[in-house]
Amino acid sequence: MKILSKSLWWFCPLLLSIYPVLSLWSTNPDQVNSSQIFLPLLSNLLLSTLMFGAAGLLLRNLTTTSVFLSLVLFLAVGLGHFLESKTVIPVLAGFIVILFAVFYRTRTKNQEKLLSLLSVISFAICASSLLSGVRNFKATDVSFERDQQAERYSVKKATDDPNIIFIIPDGYAGDTTLREVYKYDNSDFRGFLEKKGFSLPESQSNYLMTLLSLGSALTMDYVKVPEEFIEKKTRAPMFTTIDRASALDYLRARGYKIINISSGWGPTDYLDSADINFVCGQYDEFFIKAAPLSPLVFVKKWLPLLNPKGSISACALKKAAEIPKKYGERIDGKPYFVFVHVISPHAPYFLDKNCNSIVTSELKFDGDAWDQKDLYLGQLECTNKLLKDIVTSWTAPSTIPSAIVILSDHGSAVGGADITTPGEAQDFYLRQRFDNFAAFRFPKAEEIKSLTPVNVFPILYNHLFGEKFPLKPKKLYFSTYERPYKFQDLTNEYSRPKQ
Ligand SMILES: [Zn+2]
Repeated sequence: MKILSKSLWWFCPLLLSIYPVLSLWSTNPDQVNSSQIFLPLLSNLLLSTLMFGAAGLLLRNLTTTSVFLSLVLFLAVGLGHFLESKTVIPVLAGFIVILFAVFYRTRTKNQEKLLSLLSVISFAICASSLLSGVRNFKATDVSFERDQQAERYSVKKATDDPNIIFIIPDGYAGDTTLREVYKYDNSDFRGFLEKKGFSLPESQSNYLMTLLSLGSALTMDYVKVPEEFIEKKTRAPMFTTIDRASALDYLRARGYKIINISSGWGPTDYLDSADINFVCGQYDEFFIKAAPLSPLVFVKKWLPLLNPKGSISACALKKAAEIPKKYGERIDGKPYFVFVHVISPHAPYFLDKNCNSIVTSELKFDGDAWDQKDLYLGQLECTNKLLKDIVTSWTAPSTIPSAIVILSDHGSAVGGADITTPGEAQDFYLRQRFDNFAAFRFPKAEEIKSLTPVNVFPILYNHLFGEKFPLKPKKLYFSTYERPYKFQDLTNEYSRPKQ
């Protein structure tokens, strides 16, 4: 078999360097902006070129070097599917040594047939990835029905409309969980908030997943899933739903400028509908997963150091604190609403309690990352510190006092066992996961006793603007990552206090 001409020795390693990025894009075309693809692609190509150069110097044969590098790249991609990231590095290093020894001895042999075969396989996987990406991309423009009630309200602009900041610290556990599961006393932070005029309602999240919880809060309604989506896994409709959030329509109609501070994750990384999108950090979640040569995690370990601004979350929270100073009381004469979703205290753990970078942290987003309690609490304390800075700057004396909401999308998930099977482990998971954190501060001190996130914007608008948005009854829904829209109503079992 000789399909490729000798001069195409570069074809296979080139395709395999592109493949990790292509494959991640093809399965999440709705979550990735085209601008995010450039950097991981470039770093993969650069690393491949360097590896090719180094191996080429020793093997002294273009075809042999190409076969060697292609096999290394195949292994790098493949191993990540089967092994834990910690194990990938030594196993891959072992394979590289063995492969190199084999190819060093056989470097004068004709390897063209092998290279042709590898090139055909690489072409096939890249082409199928590209095709499925194009197909998925076409399917991204669907959104679930949105509650239109925001548009039904009389929107009267007032000259004293406050500036609003809405902060979502992802996975910030409720007080009960912090006390009982983490054995952590958060009263320093809670006391600080109370002194600053915050109301700390008892809260439970309506959904267990970020997308559903955010989508429901931002549309001021429970997620309405058409029949054909109930058995589907696609996140695409939630992305579109979040981007076209009806809660923000109300503010827009009231004359607010909408500012989004990039989270480095999914739909809140960039809100198409915002007037201003601040981007934080150079390395977002896509980069972390796709480059360089995913899953060569030893490079990823150093990402917090590569990013001079520290983690994206810390940068986003610092930016949020600077906004009142940067813009003053109005932007072009208009009040502003700042939306900040940060992947913190949620893993991966980049920061210790003093907000210094942790270089030894593994880049795990979920699973047993929740069991690393010290790391979680460290990042939680850093988040508290940065939130305090925001509160201090947003509550500085001003002729127009501002409103602040801090609301986590869901609680923690220590235990990490199979959560799909009913039993003790699932029960432990659900108690934590529904237990989220909420804090409100209105320009005039007011107390909110209990909250469930679907009502967060109606409560805010009723208090700030004297509207009469109806509040929804509290519902707690369970669904799995595999079937996010197949809801099981667990309100009776988990509502606190019992309904
Ligand atoms: Zn979340």
